[in-house]
Amino acid sequence: MQPAHVLLLAILISTAQAQSPTVKEVDAVYPDAQALYLDIHQHPELSSHETQTAAKLASRLRALGYGVTEHVGGTGIVAILKNGAGPTVMFRTELDALPVEEKTGLPYASTVRTKDDSGREVPVMHACGHDVHMAALIGTATILAHSKETWHGTLLLIGQPAEETITGAKAMLADGFLTRFPKPDFALALHVENRFPAGVVGVTPGTYDTNADSLRITIYGKGGHGSAPQTAIDPIVIAARTILSLQTIVSREVKPTEMAVITVGYIRAGTKNNIIPDQAELGLTVRTFKAEVRKQVLAAITRIINAEAQAGGAPREPLIERYEQTDSVYNDPALTERMRAVLESALGKENVVTAEPITASEDFSYFVEQGIPGFYLSMGGADPEKFAAAQKAGETLPSNHSPLFAPDVSPSLHTAITAEIAMLRNLLSSTAAKR
Ligand SMILES: [Zn+2]
Ligand SMILES: [Zn+2]
Repeated sequence: MQPAHVLLLAILISTAQAQSPTVKEVDAVYPDAQALYLDIHQHPELSSHETQTAAKLASRLRALGYGVTEHVGGTGIVAILKNGAGPTVMFRTELDALPVEEKTGLPYASTVRTKDDSGREVPVMHACGHDVHMAALIGTATILAHSKETWHGTLLLIGQPAEETITGAKAMLADGFLTRFPKPDFALALHVENRFPAGVVGVTPGTYDTNADSLRITIYGKGGHGSAPQTAIDPIVIAARTILSLQTIVSREVKPTEMAVITVGYIRAGTKNNIIPDQAELGLTVRTFKAEVRKQVLAAITRIINAEAQAGGAPREPLIERYEQTDSVYNDPALTERMRAVLESALGKENVVTAEPITASEDFSYFVEQGIPGFYLSMGGADPEKFAAAQKAGETLPSNHSPLFAPDVSPSLHTAITAEIAMLRNLLSSTAAKR
Protein backbone atom coordinates (compact mmCIF):
# COMPACT_ATOMS: atom_id res chain seq x y z
CA MET A 1 0.00 0.00 0.00
CA GLN A 2 1.24 3.50 -0.88
CA PRO A 3 1.90 5.90 2.01
CA ALA A 4 -0.85 8.22 0.75
CA HIS A 5 -3.32 5.34 0.84
CA VAL A 6 -2.19 4.37 4.31
CA LEU A 7 -2.81 7.94 5.42
CA LEU A 8 -6.24 8.02 3.77
CA LEU A 9 -7.16 4.71 5.40
CA ALA A 10 -6.00 5.99 8.77
CA ILE A 11 -8.16 9.10 8.34
CA LEU A 12 -11.16 6.98 7.29
CA ILE A 13 -10.76 4.66 10.27
CA SER A 14 -10.35 7.51 12.73
CA THR A 15 -13.38 9.27 11.19
CA ALA A 16 -15.47 6.12 11.59
CA GLN A 17 -14.34 5.76 15.19
CA ALA A 18 -15.02 9.43 15.89
CA GLN A 19 -18.59 8.88 14.68
CA SER A 20 -19.26 6.07 17.14
CA PRO A 21 -20.84 7.36 20.32
CA THR A 22 -18.80 7.02 23.48
CA VAL A 23 -19.97 4.59 26.16
CA LYS A 24 -20.47 7.65 28.35
CA GLU A 25 -22.81 9.27 25.81
CA VAL A 26 -25.01 6.18 25.56
CA ASP A 27 -24.97 5.49 29.31
CA ALA A 28 -26.07 9.07 29.93
CA VAL A 29 -29.31 8.66 27.92
CA TYR A 30 -29.99 5.04 28.89
CA PRO A 31 -32.02 5.63 32.10
CA ASP A 32 -34.44 7.90 30.26
CA ALA A 33 -34.70 5.51 27.29
CA GLN A 34 -35.34 2.58 29.63
CA ALA A 35 -38.03 4.52 31.53
CA LEU A 36 -39.72 5.37 28.24
CA TYR A 37 -39.46 1.72 27.16
CA LEU A 38 -41.21 0.51 30.32
CA ASP A 39 -43.90 3.17 29.97
CA ILE A 40 -44.62 2.41 26.30
CA HIS A 41 -44.43 -1.35 26.89
CA GLN A 42 -47.10 -1.08 29.57
CA HIS A 43 -49.30 1.22 27.48
CA PRO A 44 -49.36 -0.37 24.02
CA GLU A 45 -51.80 0.88 21.37
CA LEU A 46 -53.16 -0.87 18.29
CA SER A 47 -52.37 0.15 14.70
CA SER A 48 -53.79 3.57 13.72
CA HIS A 49 -54.71 4.28 17.35
CA GLU A 50 -51.24 5.26 18.62
CA THR A 51 -52.37 8.66 19.97
CA GLN A 52 -50.78 8.51 23.45
CA THR A 53 -47.63 6.86 22.11
CA ALA A 54 -47.21 9.53 19.43
CA ALA A 55 -47.87 12.30 21.96
CA LYS A 56 -45.17 10.93 24.30
CA LEU A 57 -42.58 10.92 21.53
CA ALA A 58 -43.66 14.33 20.21
CA SER A 59 -43.37 16.05 23.59
CA ARG A 60 -39.92 14.60 24.26
CA LEU A 61 -38.66 15.55 20.81
CA ARG A 62 -40.06 19.08 21.17
CA ALA A 63 -38.32 19.48 24.52
CA LEU A 64 -35.06 18.52 22.80
CA GLY A 65 -35.48 21.33 20.25
CA TYR A 66 -36.85 19.34 17.31
CA GLY A 67 -39.55 20.89 15.13
CA VAL A 68 -42.36 18.35 15.47
CA THR A 69 -45.39 17.89 13.23
CA GLU A 70 -48.08 15.56 14.53
CA HIS A 71 -50.98 13.76 12.81
CA VAL A 72 -49.05 13.05 9.61
CA GLY A 73 -50.94 10.23 7.91
CA GLY A 74 -53.15 9.69 10.97
CA THR A 75 -51.13 9.44 14.18
CA GLY A 76 -47.69 9.77 12.55
CA ILE A 77 -45.08 12.28 13.67
CA VAL A 78 -42.20 13.96 11.85
CA ALA A 79 -39.44 15.57 13.92
CA ILE A 80 -36.81 17.75 12.24
CA LEU A 81 -33.52 19.03 13.58
CA LYS A 82 -31.66 21.30 11.17
CA ASN A 83 -27.95 21.73 11.69
CA GLY A 84 -26.44 23.65 8.78
CA ALA A 85 -25.74 22.49 5.26
CA GLY A 86 -25.48 18.81 4.49
CA PRO A 87 -27.57 15.80 3.63
CA THR A 88 -31.06 15.04 4.91
CA VAL A 89 -31.25 11.67 6.64
CA MET A 90 -34.39 10.01 7.88
CA PHE A 91 -34.65 7.42 10.65
CA ARG A 92 -37.97 5.70 11.17
CA THR A 93 -39.60 3.94 14.10
CA GLU A 94 -43.01 2.29 14.17
CA LEU A 95 -45.56 3.25 16.82
CA ASP A 96 -48.00 0.34 16.93
CA ALA A 97 -48.52 -2.77 19.06
CA LEU A 98 -50.44 -6.01 18.39
CA PRO A 99 -53.60 -7.75 19.59
CA VAL A 100 -51.60 -10.34 21.54
CA GLU A 101 -51.96 -11.34 25.19
CA GLU A 102 -48.57 -10.99 26.87
CA LYS A 103 -47.45 -14.18 28.64
CA THR A 104 -43.83 -13.30 29.42
CA GLY A 105 -44.48 -13.13 33.16
CA LEU A 106 -42.27 -10.03 33.32
CA PRO A 107 -43.03 -7.55 36.11
CA TYR A 108 -43.70 -4.90 33.47
CA ALA A 109 -45.84 -7.14 31.23
CA SER A 110 -48.76 -5.45 29.49
CA THR A 111 -52.24 -6.11 30.88
CA VAL A 112 -53.94 -3.72 28.46
CA ARG A 113 -57.17 -4.72 26.74
CA THR A 114 -59.05 -2.61 24.25
CA LYS A 115 -61.63 -2.79 21.48
CA ASP A 116 -60.30 -3.42 18.00
CA ASP A 117 -61.72 -1.82 14.85
CA SER A 118 -64.43 -4.46 14.62
CA GLY A 119 -65.53 -3.77 18.21
CA ARG A 120 -64.10 -6.99 19.65
CA GLU A 121 -62.29 -6.78 22.97
CA VAL A 122 -58.65 -7.79 22.48
CA PRO A 123 -55.46 -7.85 24.57
CA VAL A 124 -52.65 -5.53 23.43
CA MET A 125 -48.90 -6.12 23.60
CA HIS A 126 -45.75 -4.71 22.05
CA ALA A 127 -45.04 -8.21 20.77
CA CYS A 128 -43.01 -6.95 17.81
CA GLY A 129 -40.58 -4.83 19.83
CA HIS A 130 -41.57 -1.44 18.41
CA ASP A 131 -41.25 -0.16 21.99
CA VAL A 132 -37.50 -0.91 21.78
CA HIS A 133 -37.32 1.09 18.53
CA MET A 134 -39.11 4.10 20.03
CA ALA A 135 -37.07 4.16 23.24
CA ALA A 136 -33.83 3.88 21.24
CA LEU A 137 -34.94 6.66 18.89
CA ILE A 138 -35.42 9.03 21.82
CA GLY A 139 -31.96 8.10 23.15
CA THR A 140 -30.50 8.79 19.72
CA ALA A 141 -32.47 12.04 19.35
CA THR A 142 -31.13 13.22 22.71
CA ILE A 143 -27.48 12.46 21.92
CA LEU A 144 -27.64 14.13 18.50
CA ALA A 145 -29.39 17.22 19.89
CA HIS A 146 -26.59 17.55 22.44
CA SER A 147 -23.69 16.92 20.06
CA LYS A 148 -24.38 19.18 17.10
CA GLU A 149 -20.65 19.68 16.57
CA THR A 150 -20.43 16.02 15.44
CA TRP A 151 -22.78 16.27 12.46
CA HIS A 152 -24.16 18.59 9.79
CA GLY A 153 -27.32 18.55 7.75
CA THR A 154 -30.95 17.78 8.49
CA LEU A 155 -32.09 14.97 10.73
CA LEU A 156 -35.60 13.68 10.15
CA LEU A 157 -37.01 11.34 12.80
CA ILE A 158 -40.23 9.59 11.84
CA GLY A 159 -42.79 7.95 14.11
CA GLN A 160 -44.80 5.85 11.67
CA PRO A 161 -48.22 4.52 12.63
CA ALA A 162 -49.86 1.28 11.54
CA GLU A 163 -46.87 -0.77 10.40
CA GLU A 164 -48.55 -4.02 11.44
CA THR A 165 -51.43 -3.36 9.06
CA ILE A 166 -48.94 -2.11 6.42
CA THR A 167 -50.96 1.07 5.94
CA GLY A 168 -49.00 3.70 7.88
CA ALA A 169 -46.14 4.45 5.49
CA LYS A 170 -48.58 4.80 2.61
CA ALA A 171 -50.76 7.13 4.71
CA MET A 172 -47.77 9.36 5.61
CA LEU A 173 -46.75 9.60 1.95
CA ALA A 174 -50.34 10.36 0.91
CA ASP A 175 -50.37 13.11 3.55
CA GLY A 176 -47.52 14.91 1.78
CA PHE A 177 -44.51 13.51 3.64
CA LEU A 178 -42.24 14.22 0.65
CA THR A 179 -43.56 17.70 -0.10
CA ARG A 180 -44.22 19.10 3.39
CA PHE A 181 -40.80 18.04 4.72
CA PRO A 182 -37.28 17.97 3.24
CA LYS A 183 -36.87 14.92 1.00
CA PRO A 184 -34.42 12.49 2.62
CA ASP A 185 -31.18 11.57 0.84
CA PHE A 186 -31.06 8.37 2.88
CA ALA A 187 -33.63 6.40 4.85
CA LEU A 188 -32.73 4.12 7.76
CA ALA A 189 -34.64 1.82 10.11
CA LEU A 190 -33.89 -1.17 12.30
CA HIS A 191 -35.81 -4.06 13.82
CA VAL A 192 -35.21 -6.01 16.99
CA GLU A 193 -35.58 -9.78 16.68
CA ASN A 194 -34.43 -13.04 18.25
CA ARG A 195 -32.37 -14.44 15.37
CA PHE A 196 -29.32 -12.99 17.11
CA PRO A 197 -28.34 -12.28 20.70
CA ALA A 198 -28.54 -8.67 21.87
CA GLY A 199 -25.33 -6.92 20.91
CA VAL A 200 -25.17 -8.52 17.47
CA VAL A 201 -26.61 -6.93 14.32
CA GLY A 202 -27.37 -8.48 10.92
CA VAL A 203 -26.69 -6.76 7.60
CA THR A 204 -28.60 -7.91 4.50
CA PRO A 205 -27.49 -6.44 1.16
CA GLY A 206 -30.22 -6.20 -1.51
CA THR A 207 -33.60 -7.80 -0.79
CA TYR A 208 -34.21 -7.67 2.97
CA ASP A 209 -37.70 -9.17 3.26
CA THR A 210 -40.69 -10.35 1.26
CA ASN A 211 -43.50 -8.99 -0.86
CA ALA A 212 -46.66 -9.60 1.15
CA ASP A 213 -50.22 -10.00 -0.15
CA SER A 214 -53.27 -10.53 2.04
CA LEU A 215 -56.20 -12.21 0.33
CA ARG A 216 -59.77 -12.78 1.48
CA ILE A 217 -61.59 -15.48 -0.50
CA THR A 218 -65.33 -16.02 -0.30
CA ILE A 219 -66.47 -19.35 -1.73
CA TYR A 220 -70.18 -19.56 -2.51
CA GLY A 221 -72.29 -22.69 -2.12
CA LYS A 222 -75.94 -23.44 -1.47
CA GLY A 223 -77.14 -23.87 2.11
CA GLY A 224 -79.23 -26.77 3.29
CA HIS A 225 -79.87 -29.46 5.92
CA GLY A 226 -76.81 -31.36 7.10
CA SER A 227 -78.69 -34.61 6.60
CA ALA A 228 -79.56 -33.85 2.97
CA PRO A 229 -76.35 -32.92 1.09
CA GLN A 230 -78.05 -33.68 -2.24
CA THR A 231 -80.15 -30.51 -1.77
CA ALA A 232 -77.12 -28.30 -1.10
CA ILE A 233 -73.70 -27.34 -2.48
CA ASP A 234 -71.27 -27.56 0.41
CA PRO A 235 -68.80 -24.61 0.41
CA ILE A 236 -66.84 -26.22 3.28
CA VAL A 237 -65.88 -29.18 1.09
CA ILE A 238 -64.93 -26.83 -1.75
CA ALA A 239 -62.88 -24.77 0.72
CA ALA A 240 -61.12 -27.89 2.03
CA ARG A 241 -60.16 -29.01 -1.49
CA THR A 242 -59.09 -25.46 -2.35
CA ILE A 243 -56.75 -25.28 0.66
CA LEU A 244 -55.00 -28.51 -0.32
CA SER A 245 -54.75 -27.52 -3.99
CA LEU A 246 -53.26 -24.15 -3.06
CA GLN A 247 -50.42 -26.01 -1.36
CA THR A 248 -49.41 -27.51 -4.71
CA ILE A 249 -48.47 -24.06 -6.08
CA VAL A 250 -45.24 -23.85 -4.10
CA SER A 251 -44.47 -27.56 -4.27
CA ARG A 252 -45.37 -28.13 -7.97
CA GLU A 253 -45.40 -24.82 -9.85
CA VAL A 254 -42.77 -22.50 -8.40
CA LYS A 255 -39.16 -23.19 -9.34
CA PRO A 256 -37.55 -25.01 -6.39
CA THR A 257 -34.77 -22.40 -6.06
CA GLU A 258 -37.29 -19.55 -5.66
CA MET A 259 -38.97 -18.52 -2.42
CA ALA A 260 -42.76 -18.50 -1.96
CA VAL A 261 -45.08 -19.07 1.00
CA ILE A 262 -48.86 -19.53 0.87
CA THR A 263 -50.52 -19.78 4.25
CA VAL A 264 -54.25 -20.13 4.82
CA GLY A 265 -54.43 -18.44 8.21
CA TYR A 266 -58.12 -18.87 8.83
CA ILE A 267 -61.23 -20.56 7.52
CA ARG A 268 -64.64 -19.33 8.56
CA ALA A 269 -67.83 -21.16 7.70
CA GLY A 270 -70.96 -22.46 9.27
CA THR A 271 -72.80 -22.02 12.54
CA LYS A 272 -74.06 -25.47 13.52
CA ASN A 273 -73.15 -29.10 12.86
CA ASN A 274 -76.37 -30.01 11.02
CA ILE A 275 -76.47 -27.01 8.71
CA ILE A 276 -74.62 -26.79 5.41
CA PRO A 277 -73.73 -23.08 5.16
CA ASP A 278 -74.07 -21.09 1.96
CA GLN A 279 -70.57 -19.66 1.97
CA ALA A 280 -67.05 -20.13 3.35
CA GLU A 281 -64.29 -17.57 3.81
CA LEU A 282 -60.53 -18.16 3.66
CA GLY A 283 -57.82 -15.73 4.73
CA LEU A 284 -54.46 -16.06 2.99
CA THR A 285 -51.05 -14.51 3.35
CA VAL A 286 -48.70 -14.83 0.39
CA ARG A 287 -44.96 -14.07 0.61
CA THR A 288 -42.38 -13.89 -2.16
CA PHE A 289 -39.00 -12.26 -2.75
CA LYS A 290 -39.19 -11.65 -6.49
CA ALA A 291 -41.79 -9.66 -8.43
CA GLU A 292 -42.11 -12.32 -11.15
CA VAL A 293 -42.66 -15.10 -8.60
CA ARG A 294 -45.27 -12.95 -6.87
CA LYS A 295 -47.12 -12.52 -10.17
CA GLN A 296 -46.94 -16.25 -10.91
CA VAL A 297 -48.20 -17.27 -7.45
CA LEU A 298 -51.09 -14.78 -7.38
CA ALA A 299 -52.21 -15.92 -10.84
CA ALA A 300 -52.06 -19.59 -9.78
CA ILE A 301 -54.10 -18.85 -6.64
CA THR A 302 -56.86 -17.23 -8.73
CA ARG A 303 -56.84 -20.10 -11.22
CA ILE A 304 -57.09 -22.79 -8.52
CA ILE A 305 -59.76 -21.04 -6.48
CA ASN A 306 -61.98 -20.56 -9.52
CA ALA A 307 -61.38 -24.10 -10.80
CA GLU A 308 -62.13 -25.75 -7.46
CA ALA A 309 -65.36 -23.76 -7.14
CA GLN A 310 -66.33 -24.86 -10.63
CA ALA A 311 -65.42 -28.48 -9.87
CA GLY A 312 -67.65 -28.33 -6.78
CA GLY A 313 -70.58 -26.92 -8.76
CA ALA A 314 -70.57 -23.57 -6.95
CA PRO A 315 -73.45 -21.33 -8.06
CA ARG A 316 -71.10 -18.40 -8.70
CA GLU A 317 -67.40 -17.54 -8.95
CA PRO A 318 -65.63 -16.98 -5.64
CA LEU A 319 -64.90 -13.41 -4.57
CA ILE A 320 -61.13 -12.80 -4.33
CA GLU A 321 -60.16 -9.63 -2.45
CA ARG A 322 -56.51 -8.54 -2.22
CA TYR A 323 -56.96 -6.22 0.74
CA GLU A 324 -53.42 -5.56 1.98
CA GLN A 325 -50.12 -5.62 0.17
CA THR A 326 -46.59 -4.37 0.47
CA ASP A 327 -43.42 -4.69 -1.54
CA SER A 328 -40.18 -6.16 -0.25
CA VAL A 329 -37.69 -3.77 1.35
CA TYR A 330 -34.58 -3.27 -0.78
CA ASN A 331 -31.31 -2.42 0.93
CA ASP A 332 -29.29 -0.17 -1.35
CA PRO A 333 -26.05 -2.16 -1.87
CA ALA A 334 -23.64 0.80 -1.69
CA LEU A 335 -25.32 2.28 1.36
CA THR A 336 -25.43 -1.16 2.99
CA GLU A 337 -21.68 -1.68 2.62
CA ARG A 338 -21.01 1.84 3.88
CA MET A 339 -23.16 1.16 6.95
CA ARG A 340 -21.56 -2.24 7.49
CA ALA A 341 -18.14 -0.57 7.90
CA VAL A 342 -19.60 2.02 10.27
CA LEU A 343 -21.31 -0.69 12.37
CA GLU A 344 -18.16 -2.81 12.51
CA SER A 345 -16.29 0.16 13.84
CA ALA A 346 -19.00 1.02 16.39
CA LEU A 347 -19.94 -2.46 17.62
CA GLY A 348 -16.88 -4.57 16.82
CA LYS A 349 -16.41 -6.66 13.69
CA GLU A 350 -17.47 -9.85 15.51
CA ASN A 351 -20.86 -8.31 16.28
CA VAL A 352 -21.79 -7.52 12.69
CA VAL A 353 -22.91 -10.53 10.65
CA THR A 354 -24.38 -10.98 7.20
CA ALA A 355 -28.02 -11.96 7.62
CA GLU A 356 -30.27 -13.86 5.24
CA PRO A 357 -33.41 -12.08 4.00
CA ILE A 358 -36.41 -12.71 6.26
CA THR A 359 -39.85 -13.92 5.18
CA ALA A 360 -41.66 -11.24 7.18
CA SER A 361 -42.76 -7.98 5.52
CA GLU A 362 -42.64 -4.27 6.20
CA ASP A 363 -44.02 -1.10 4.71
CA PHE A 364 -40.68 0.75 5.00
CA SER A 365 -40.48 -0.23 1.31
CA TYR A 366 -42.90 2.58 0.45
CA PHE A 367 -40.35 5.18 1.59
CA VAL A 368 -37.47 3.50 -0.22
CA GLU A 369 -39.52 3.22 -3.42
CA GLN A 370 -39.73 7.02 -3.58
CA GLY A 371 -36.15 6.94 -4.88
CA ILE A 372 -34.52 7.20 -1.45
CA PRO A 373 -31.60 4.79 -0.90
CA GLY A 374 -32.56 2.79 2.19
CA PHE A 375 -30.92 0.56 4.75
CA TYR A 376 -32.88 -1.64 7.15
CA LEU A 377 -30.83 -3.26 9.90
CA SER A 378 -31.62 -6.47 11.79
CA MET A 379 -30.79 -6.17 15.46
CA GLY A 380 -30.46 -9.04 17.92
CA GLY A 381 -32.65 -8.71 21.01
CA ALA A 382 -32.30 -12.09 22.70
CA ASP A 383 -30.81 -12.48 26.16
CA PRO A 384 -27.32 -13.75 25.19
CA GLU A 385 -27.36 -16.55 27.80
CA LYS A 386 -30.84 -17.76 26.81
CA PHE A 387 -29.81 -17.52 23.16
CA ALA A 388 -26.73 -19.70 23.73
CA ALA A 389 -28.76 -22.25 25.75
CA ALA A 390 -31.43 -22.44 23.04
CA GLN A 391 -28.81 -22.90 20.33
CA LYS A 392 -27.18 -25.70 22.34
CA ALA A 393 -30.56 -27.42 22.71
CA GLY A 394 -31.34 -26.97 19.01
CA GLU A 395 -34.31 -24.74 19.83
CA THR A 396 -35.36 -21.25 18.78
CA LEU A 397 -36.47 -18.50 21.14
CA PRO A 398 -40.01 -17.05 20.79
CA SER A 399 -40.13 -14.89 17.68
CA ASN A 400 -41.67 -11.46 17.13
CA HIS A 401 -45.48 -11.55 17.53
CA SER A 402 -45.23 -14.36 20.12
CA PRO A 403 -46.92 -13.75 23.51
CA LEU A 404 -43.51 -14.71 24.94
CA PHE A 405 -41.40 -12.26 22.89
CA ALA A 406 -39.19 -10.44 25.39
CA PRO A 407 -36.13 -8.52 24.21
CA ASP A 408 -33.26 -8.16 26.66
CA VAL A 409 -33.85 -4.47 27.31
CA SER A 410 -30.49 -3.07 28.39
CA PRO A 411 -28.19 -4.57 25.73
CA SER A 412 -30.88 -4.08 23.05
CA LEU A 413 -31.25 -0.38 23.79
CA HIS A 414 -27.51 0.17 24.18
CA THR A 415 -26.84 -1.55 20.84
CA ALA A 416 -29.67 0.23 19.01
CA ILE A 417 -28.60 3.68 20.21
CA THR A 418 -24.92 3.01 19.46
CA ALA A 419 -25.73 1.72 15.96
CA GLU A 420 -28.11 4.59 15.19
CA ILE A 421 -25.70 7.30 16.33
CA ALA A 422 -22.80 5.79 14.39
CA MET A 423 -24.85 5.44 11.17
CA LEU A 424 -26.45 8.89 11.43
CA ARG A 425 -23.21 10.70 12.27
CA ASN A 426 -21.55 8.98 9.32
CA LEU A 427 -24.29 9.97 6.87
CA LEU A 428 -24.52 13.44 8.37
CA SER A 429 -20.78 14.01 8.55
CA SER A 430 -19.41 17.20 7.01
CA THR A 431 -17.32 15.16 4.57
CA ALA A 432 -20.34 13.20 3.31
CA ALA A 433 -21.09 14.42 -0.17
CA LYS A 434 -24.64 15.50 -0.85
CA ARG A 435 -26.18 13.18 -3.38
ZN1 LIG B 1 -44.59 -7.07 13.58
ZN1 LIG C 1 -42.28 -5.02 13.73
